[in-house]
Amino acid sequence: MPAPPLPSLAEHIARHGLAPRKALGQHFLLDAALCARIASLAAPLEGRHVLEVGPGPGGLTRALLESPAAEVVAVELDRRAIAGLAELGEHFSGRLRVIEGDALRIDAGALLPAPRRIVANLPYNVGTPLLIGWLRQAHLFESLTLMFQQEVAERIIAAPDTEHYGRLAVLSQFRCAARMALRLPPGAFSPPPKVWSAIVHLVPHAEAPDPALLAALEKVTAAAFGQRRKMLRSSLKSLGGAEALLEAAAIEGTRRAETLSVAEFTRLAELVLARAG
Ligand code: SAM
Repeated sequence: MPAPPLPSLAEHIARHGLAPRKALGQHFLLDAALCARIASLAAPLEGRHVLEVGPGPGGLTRALLESPAAEVVAVELDRRAIAGLAELGEHFSGRLRVIEGDALRIDAGALLPAPRRIVANLPYNVGTPLLIGWLRQAHLFESLTLMFQQEVAERIIAAPDTEHYGRLAVLSQFRCAARMALRLPPGAFSPPPKVWSAIVHLVPHAEAPDPALLAALEKVTAAAFGQRRKMLRSSLKSLGGAEALLEAAAIEGTRRAETLSVAEFTRLAELVLARAG
């Protein structure tokens, strides 16, 4: 017997008492066509295991379950949403696995088998730390299709010498090819946030770097962008031997962090690592 039709998202929210909570970054997508469009940005999903963080009332989750994905694993912190998500799982014959918990504390790679993709309308307050964590294990994922507030999305895809270029761009682009996939006005969400949102599609590079190199890059970019208006010979002093480091990397000490390419930052990180080992 076919499953009974799903209630509208508005009915689902009313029935499960999911009045949006600001502290949880809850801005819901209620337009099914828009959710389907977001799911399609992550294509192909055929046979893929998809991690969704923050399913909430499940608009995007429905779209992912309507795709040919093998399974959707949804991690949600808000206990109020769990029963409704379980109902959704029944409707889609067990292809939805719901985990109640904090995505920041979960090892995403261990949660689902390959081939893995991440698709999520992220809570704004934890979007950046979640991305940084996933970058450390990016080789485990085929792609990450992630909604952030637009300014964060700009910071992920930014090129050197532009307004938004900084640590997040270097770390993201060191591990992934990143592109802006879609910009959304506040009115696309309920309730509307104060700012525009945007979806970034990240495709990790095939080769996984030595985790120690990524750690060195995190250290170098923290020092360089921590004092971004200063010349590198001064901002990198905390690393020790800044002048020698810059000379070995063939980078002028009078340059500022925002002018360095990802390749130049990588060269500095390699030298820091070689020096330590
Ligand atoms: N995916 C839904 C949608 O698009 O309508 C909801 C997106 S809403 C922007 C963010 C969701 O993340 C909320 O459901 C919120 O409860 C959940 N959330 C917030 N912090 C979380 C965390 N640390 N771990 C897992 N989920 C979290």
